[in-house]
Amino acid sequence: MADIEEKTFRIVIVGGGIAGVTCVEQLLSQIPSADVALITAGPHIKAVTNYKQVSKTLEEFDVEEQPSSVLEEKFPNLTVIHSAVKSLHTQSHTLETVDGRIFGYEKLCICSGGRPKLLTLDNPYVLGIRDTDSAQEFQKRLSKAKRIVVVGNGGIALELVFEVEGCEVIWAVKDKAIGNTFFDPGAAQFLIPSLEADKPERAAPCKRTRYTTEEPAPGGSQTFTADKNARGHGSGHTEAGSALGPDWHEGIVLRGAEQVSRRVSLEYQCEVEKIFTSEELLKSPQQTLRPENGGSWPVHIQLTNGKTFGCDFVVSATGVVPNTEPFLHGNKFALADDDGLQVDDHMMTSEPDVYAAGDVCTACWEHSPLWQQMRLWTQARQMGWYAGRCMAAHVLSEPIELDFCFELFSHITKFFNYKVVLLGKFNGQGLGPDHELLVRCTKGQEYVKVVLSGGRMVGAVLIGETDLEETFENLILNQMDLTPYKEELLNPNIDIEDYFD
Ligand code: FAD
Repeated sequence: MADIEEKTFRIVIVGGGIAGVTCVEQLLSQIPSADVALITAGPHIKAVTNYKQVSKTLEEFDVEEQPSSVLEEKFPNLTVIHSAVKSLHTQSHTLETVDGRIFGYEKLCICSGGRPKLLTLDNPYVLGIRDTDSAQEFQKRLSKAKRIVVVGNGGIALELVFEVEGCEVIWAVKDKAIGNTFFDPGAAQFLIPSLEADKPERAAPCKRTRYTTEEPAPGGSQTFTADKNARGHGSGHTEAGSALGPDWHEGIVLRGAEQVSRRVSLEYQCEVEKIFTSEELLKSPQQTLRPENGGSWPVHIQLTNGKTFGCDFVVSATGVVPNTEPFLHGNKFALADDDGLQVDDHMMTSEPDVYAAGDVCTACWEHSPLWQQMRLWTQARQMGWYAGRCMAAHVLSEPIELDFCFELFSHITKFFNYKVVLLGKFNGQGLGPDHELLVRCTKGQEYVKVVLSGGRMVGAVLIGETDLEETFENLILNQMDLTPYKEELLNPNIDIEDYFD
């Protein structure tokens, strides 16, 4: 390489998101004298604040955008470099940034996150939401919009659809129910009334040991509106900022140009066939591209259920792609099926001295039967923290074992204003038909689902203020045979905490 190496650090971390920052903090708290550099593309870093361990595995925290000087003041041996990494040369242990600087490392941790999987690139009418800039762009466009189409069924789509007011939302999901990433159809049915009304009605608790829900027909639709008068329709951003996280929509008004408070139409079991402009629409044979609701719109979206909708713009909320590109060329990283950098139980990639954590990596060790990777805040924090511990242990030649946080999947969040706790194989992931579900549901108040396998609890979904998380977490962790207690487990008249004390 003709370029001159600027500086070699003992440890370099790439990415100022939750994973990278937590990794830096952990490393420097264990080895304060280490010469560490954090290279990040964005102007700010993300810091975890108000961290609270709720139970053995559940954790809650806030995330704050902070100037990087806060981190440098805390750790005098840290150098923060604001530039994007352009290339990595694992053989020479060097990195090159877009502004032409070269940095050497002894150990490297890649925490470059992910970017939205966009439906199409270079279409000005298709937006992805990932960071503060893209959220602001969305807000600006929404303020003039009368109708948008949201494509996707993960957490971002769920929150968006619930928060947007003053604009008709057509929500296209590829599954039979909303929120498929987090819920089963039963939980989805529980949440759907929240799209209809601001205050859900209350009803007496009902206990069901078998669960069935009415599913919409393939390609079927449902419309919900919080504006009773409007009721009755039956049927690229590529700059690399940090991902937004919980409550990303708080503090920004998500209001469109119309008076209606909320109006959501759902299109189930469909994907995007084609996105085209009004000129293309005019040129096409009427029968194939006839818009459902008429009107003149700048962009049209044709779904695989045969329907075509005109709208002001399309929001692509179909997941993230790990940000690996700058690191791949010339190196031999093993990639997982989801294109993440494969990491082992020490957060090490297949390249020597290179670790990875957060959204950019895929956990490829043999998972605990109760854990799975999901690209979430909590896991970005846990992986960053654990990667920092592993790097420190390797530098100090100390042994280290996989952390307890990877024993049981656990996540607390909020959807449609309900507290949501997910534990273990909450959706029966990977269990095949050999599992049993117990469900208790009180409309507008709580939804409790327990997944049993061989009589033992392996997962749970708790929506609402159920106060069951700690007891269920213990029951999952201790794998007690619950066969004799099945009837009592979800009985609302039994204090289950006392029962298993
Ligand atoms: P990121 O936070 O994406 O950080 C990556 C960092 O790497 C950034 O600082 C970026 O500038 C830097 N970078 C990237 N490329 C380069 C490069 N080439 N050179 C140098 N630096 C680079 N999770 C939840 O748990 N709950 C939620 O409610 C939730 N809501 C979300 C809502 C939205 C809109 C989005 C987009 C995500 C949401 N997530 C949520 C997911 C969560 O935000 C991510 O899982 C988490 O932020 C991942 O952290 P990370 O540190 O791995 O990556």
